[in-house]
Amino acid sequence: MQGIFHEKTVQRTVFLLIACCMLPILLYLSPFALTENDADESAEELTASAQMTLSSTQKLSDITDNKISTKITISEPTELAIFSDKGVAGVYLIWDQPPGKWQILAGDRTIECGLYDFVHEYIEIGDEYRSITLHLPEGAVLCDIRLFGKGILPDDIQVWQPPYEKADMLLLPTHADDEHLFFGGTMPYYGGELGYRVQVVYLTNHSLPSSLYWHDTRRIHELLNGLWTVGIVAYPVISDFPDLQSLASDYRNPQELAKALAQAKNQYNFDEWVEFQVENIRRFKPYVILGHDVNGEYGHGAHMLNTESLMKALTISADPEQYPESAEKYGVWDVPKTYLHLWHENTVSMNWDIPLENFGGKTAFQMAEVGYKCHISQHIYNLAVGRSGVSDCRAFGLYRSTVGADVTGGDFFENIDFSEYETEPVTDEVTTSSPDDTNEMPSSTTSKESRNTTKTVIVTDRIFDAEIMIAYIFAIVFVLALVGIAIYAILIRR
Ligand SMILES: [Zn+2]
Repeated sequence: MQGIFHEKTVQRTVFLLIACCMLPILLYLSPFALTENDADESAEELTASAQMTLSSTQKLSDITDNKISTKITISEPTELAIFSDKGVAGVYLIWDQPPGKWQILAGDRTIECGLYDFVHEYIEIGDEYRSITLHLPEGAVLCDIRLFGKGILPDDIQVWQPPYEKADMLLLPTHADDEHLFFGGTMPYYGGELGYRVQVVYLTNHSLPSSLYWHDTRRIHELLNGLWTVGIVAYPVISDFPDLQSLASDYRNPQELAKALAQAKNQYNFDEWVEFQVENIRRFKPYVILGHDVNGEYGHGAHMLNTESLMKALTISADPEQYPESAEKYGVWDVPKTYLHLWHENTVSMNWDIPLENFGGKTAFQMAEVGYKCHISQHIYNLAVGRSGVSDCRAFGLYRSTVGADVTGGDFFENIDFSEYETEPVTDEVTTSSPDDTNEMPSSTTSKESRNTTKTVIVTDRIFDAEIMIAYIFAIVFVLALVGIAIYAILIRR
């Protein structure tokens, strides 16, 4: 009798000890604990709960419905007063076009905004304010506004940095969507995954006020959404050249191609295109440039003109006598490597099928498809990110090199000795600085820092997801173990 009692006491004591040891571990790792942390770190969206008042008679609902198609035109200086019980720490605005300078009043601070001509603009206010006032500039067109508390912003909130001071790679699409269709996995792989400074420069502008058919205000939003999706963080450069049509009736017919190019040369001033290319080469001093197919892929005259002006620019960008204004402003630059899409010499076929950690295991090819999906207005055309013919987004050729031919192939940066260039005095600081009281959004980080920051942020998110998953598994195992011990203890007592 005494022996049994003693045995039971020992069993109970052991059970209690195990339970006591496991409880804190269980609580620490439980999904409830993580959910709590998660809530602390995610920024709460306050758009719906905040009270907003416009000083004009325009419809507030047009800018709070999360639709770019409904918008208000600011015909006179207008105030948007915002009050929120939960403090506002950041404001996200979708403009129809660059709004010019405008201000936010928060407490006794005036935050200068619109400094970078961003069309998708996130303003980090810093502290949380229950009451702020936006002074919207005359002439601006505002599509949407969203408000956030402190914490990690949702993925679709685009916090752009200004264009790089110095880029590793310059990507030269002609139109919004070419960057995904014809340069394929370049941006997600080199920009989003490896963290290279990939600067995109568009040769045409879809937003220019114009009566032309190809003017389309939707496309700037699709362009930015697409770039952001594939991991680009530096705001693109977009020319002032309008989007004009010059398409060959048959892209396999050389005469038709020549006609399309001639048409583009009539529509645009070739010399202005060369000047634009030279200026951007000197401004960004890239190690690698990626340009279009000389035959304009599907025979687009503007694609062809883009490449022809690039070819010319490459031969003169190192000559200070040519376009001396940009030479004086930025210095000169001889681009080490230039690849053209579908170029027939020194060909490389890029492997865009490697799973990318920063995109949850999706490949660069898949991310190019995801990026192209953002170009909704273009889906009426029969185009897709492809692997064959003129749509093969893996096929490039080394058109020009100052560092020799590729030996291994498959890497645009082969033979680039970064240390050789990095020793040169490169000013990486962003020049567009803002006074103390201005917004802190596009931080004037060095390009190298931003290269790493992007990667770190995305990786952190991924690790956090993995932590939650592991915690769930641990929690389930511990609960099962506790239940087992309890049942065992009850059975022993009987
Ligand atoms: Zn195009």
